[in-house]
Amino acid sequence: MIGNGVLIPDTPIAIDYWRERQCNQSKLFFLSHYHADHMEGLNSSWSLKIYCSEITASLLIHEMSIRSDLVVSLQTGQPHVIPVDEMGCETMSVTLLDANHCPGAVMFLFEGYFGCILYTGDFRYDDQLHLQPGFPQSKQVDQLFLDNTYCNPKAQFPTRHDAFQIILNIIQQNPTSNVIIGLTHLGKEKLLEQLAVKLQTMIVVDSKRMQRLNLLGCLNVFTDQMDMGRIIVKYKNEITDSTIERWNQQSGPTIAIIPTALYIYQDRPPILDKRIYVVHYSDHSNYNELRQFVSVVKPCRITPII
Ligand SMILES: [Zn+2]
Repeated sequence: MIGNGVLIPDTPIAIDYWRERQCNQSKLFFLSHYHADHMEGLNSSWSLKIYCSEITASLLIHEMSIRSDLVVSLQTGQPHVIPVDEMGCETMSVTLLDANHCPGAVMFLFEGYFGCILYTGDFRYDDQLHLQPGFPQSKQVDQLFLDNTYCNPKAQFPTRHDAFQIILNIIQQNPTSNVIIGLTHLGKEKLLEQLAVKLQTMIVVDSKRMQRLNLLGCLNVFTDQMDMGRIIVKYKNEITDSTIERWNQQSGPTIAIIPTALYIYQDRPPILDKRIYVVHYSDHSNYNELRQFVSVVKPCRITPII
């Protein structure tokens, strides 16, 4: 395994795996979503086809400058037949399923001579996930590759709906403060949209994120004009005890919120300033949700992935 990628043994399938020379028998390359830890080794000089969702395809072409003729964008919810050999004598099918993780993130259901394989990639389970078209409700899944990021009984954190309410309460309890939200480059756009609508404010982002949000077709609640909104998005690594102090001195009362379950195993996050709030708003499934998902899929075998 390299990074978070997998070569599925005895198949031509490589997922989130971009070390071409080490892919002896892999001929078909799939990208589950546009997060850096799933794209290690992928760059604009890549020269083989990449199968992915429509949103991920758009990001690959417009942000990473991958050649557009190499990017095969597939709709979710329906099987797509893909030739396994050059003559097209052997085929397999892939169905993309919404992974409920970040924009464009999908699970892959592969069916072929190797049986039936479900690869979750990063995903957040909720009670609607298995009801989407194409989900293997009545199929025997031979092998489940399962996102085990939080596969630990200690990983108890709220649904995103409940975590949103916690974030909303924090902001409403600080009615005169600017609010900085700490994020990575992609993900939690729905949270921002919900906050904008609920609090009737624009969300301020930098120009690069603004371009991406336009590409994703997000609600018209974002701006790259600094004075236009009370909520400001920054990269979460920028939020430290010293920067929150500086922002308060420069711009008046300011709080910061980091929506992540990254520190779930720690008694306290590595941040001490009381103006910084870490809320367990996660785009990964918690432990109980993973158990529920497995009980729905009922696979013959499980292989953990991250
Ligand atoms: Zn991810």
